[in-house]
Amino acid sequence: MIKENLDNVLQNIASSCKNVNRNTQEVKLIAVSKTKPVSMLMEAYNNGCREFGENKVQELVEKYDAMPKDIKWHMIGHLQRNKVKYIVDKAALIHSVDSLKLAEEISREAIKKQVDVSILIEVNIAGENTKFGVTPTETERLVREIAALPNIYIKGLMAIAPYVVNPEENRQYFAHLKQLSVDINRKNIDNVSMNVLSMGMTGDYLVAIEEGATYVRVGTGIFGERQYPV
Ligand SMILES: *Cc1c(COP(=O)(O)O)cnc(C)c1O
Repeated sequence: MIKENLDNVLQNIASSCKNVNRNTQEVKLIAVSKTKPVSMLMEAYNNGCREFGENKVQELVEKYDAMPKDIKWHMIGHLQRNKVKYIVDKAALIHSVDSLKLAEEISREAIKKQVDVSILIEVNIAGENTKFGVTPTETERLVREIAALPNIYIKGLMAIAPYVVNPEENRQYFAHLKQLSVDINRKNIDNVSMNVLSMGMTGDYLVAIEEGATYVRVGTGIFGERQYPV
């Protein structure tokens, strides 16, 4: 099942790229494996997946230890400062940085472990109360503050769009995030690049690609529905 799902997602990505004349290589797939067992991750791995996304520190660390070492791990969930130390040297990219305090902690731990950490700024692009992320208007200021810290590098922006039935409703938000990254890129801030746009999930990744996503984060579309313990 995972192989068929993966083939399907990769085909969809390719045709979405074609629709808007983008090179398929510009869009990378993160297999979001939260709550799923290592056996399922291995199946995805054996079918070519090398980038996985997790939203909990402990789960990321456990799977990091259990899985082959040529995988890029993406921390896509809200990150508490007291857990930063467990993942600074394990996550290839932390997508969910939305405050200076969190960035300072990442910088401190990165210095201790003598690593450089790549991050994205999480933007609350639709202004939802229930979501983490910095507001679009505060994003540039936060980027400038974080850019001055050692051992931490901003690579772009990330957003989680609202849950909608019709993905077209999220096009405006994806377009807004893209525009924000273009605007910030024009400022040529030292140590900041805006090459990465992490947006789009199972329900809306095709629209996100049409609006400029470079990473799409797909869970259900690869691994099936998640069952959370009650
Ligand atoms: C769970 C999750 C996803 C994947 O969601 P699906 O709808 O299952 O594709 C993507 N991004 C984040 C931040 C998530 O927490």
